[in-house]
Amino acid sequence: MTSYKNPYLDELDTGVFVRYNYRANDEADNRKLALALENGDPLVYFQGIRPGVFVAYYPVYAVKNDLDAGQFVIAMDESMRFFGDPLHMTIDERRYAERTVRARLHQPLFRARVMNAYSTTCAVCTLKHADLLDAAHIIPDFDMGGFATTTNGMALCKIHHAAFDRNLLGITPDYEVRIDQNLLDEIDGPMLRHGLQDMHGRNLHIPTRVIDRPSRDALALRFAEFNA
Ligand SMILES: [Zn+2]
Repeated sequence: MTSYKNPYLDELDTGVFVRYNYRANDEADNRKLALALENGDPLVYFQGIRPGVFVAYYPVYAVKNDLDAGQFVIAMDESMRFFGDPLHMTIDERRYAERTVRARLHQPLFRARVMNAYSTTCAVCTLKHADLLDAAHIIPDFDMGGFATTTNGMALCKIHHAAFDRNLLGITPDYEVRIDQNLLDEIDGPMLRHGLQDMHGRNLHIPTRVIDRPSRDALALRFAEFNA
């Protein structure tokens, strides 16, 4: 378990293995991890995102006891148990691991953070049904570099996410919603009228915490694409 206050977050975003410090006052915990390593037992890893709220990853595996560093090395995917030496990966192993970790860690973590920041509410229409909401990236996360931050995300319902990704819906750097002119001119049923056209000119519903709000620079980049 890693607390939400712990700087492990960054290591998770870009790293491949989680390095889990020996618990200072909990010998039993260390012993159990050593045993799990010996037996190859699956573990559940809980990562805190705010007090009392965790993202759970499973199964994960202890793959190495790094005595010098006083840490257990935890593989976040079963396949990574079979790497030659987790501390000295080959280029291929690292490439594979990075892709795997990104798929398994980045997305759930990103979603949890974004949903938390937006109180599970679509930033465009304020729909609050979790099953119909996505954590949308403003700049697509083509690479690994630090993109699991809420400033590069927004909670959007499925239709507004798809419309945003296809530049049918734009968001100005001042947090105002714009709908593509062709869509505004179209005539169709209530989904088009209420779900899309009525959103034109609305203010974005943004997180209360300033540090969680969408990056204006990222929005400006995307809005230029929308205008184009
Ligand atoms: Zn919506």
